[in-house]
Formats: sequence, C-alpha cells, structure tokens
Amino acid sequence: MNKEEKLKAKKIISKKNLVYEICVKKVMKIKNNIKKILDFFDIIHKKIKGVVKMKKYVCVVCGYVYDPEVGDTDGGVAAGTSFEEIPEEWVCPVCGVGKDQFEEA
Ligand SMILES: [Zn+2]
Repeated sequence: MNKEEKLKAKKIISKKNLVYEICVKKVMKIKNNIKKILDFFDIIHKKIKGVVKMKKYVCVVCGYVYDPEVGDTDGGVAAGTSFEEIPEEWVCPVCGVGKDQFEEA
C-alpha cells in the first residue's frame, strides 16, 4: 500500500464511522420515540380500564354475583379485578363451581 492508498483507506474508514454514528443516533432517537409511544399507550390503557365499567358475572348454579368493584378477597381476588382477569382455578365462593359456570349478569 502506498501513501495515497493509505490515505484513501483512512478516508473510507472515517466515512464509514460517520455513517455508523449517524445510524446509531437515528436508532436511539427511534428507540426514544417508541418508548414515548408505548408510555402513551400505557396511560390510555389505564384510563380506558378505569372508564369502561367492568361487567358483573353471575353463577348459574347458585346465583352468586361476582362484582369486579368488590372482587372476592376471601378467594384471593382483589377488588378492581375484571372477571376475565380472574385465574382459571378460581371457583365460586358460594357453591364451588368453576369460572365456566358463570355468565354475564
Ligand atoms: Zn355458585
């Protein structure tokens, strides 16, 4: 490699580094924007969840009504838990049947 070739190679490398740096900056910017968008959706999701009234479900066997605003603290379900969010192994606190025996009130 002569001097001229070396200089050329150096230029190419510095140019590649510059492109790389620009790419990294752009990716970081996109990453930050995506995070902002995700945070925004998270806030909206929480707001919708609070606004949309959760449905009550009634046990078809005994008539027990599951009220999401009350939950079933004895059964380990906190107040504010929608029926869909209750674990599948949960049973009716009155008669002991599973979630599949409940229907919308
Ligand atoms: Zn029941």
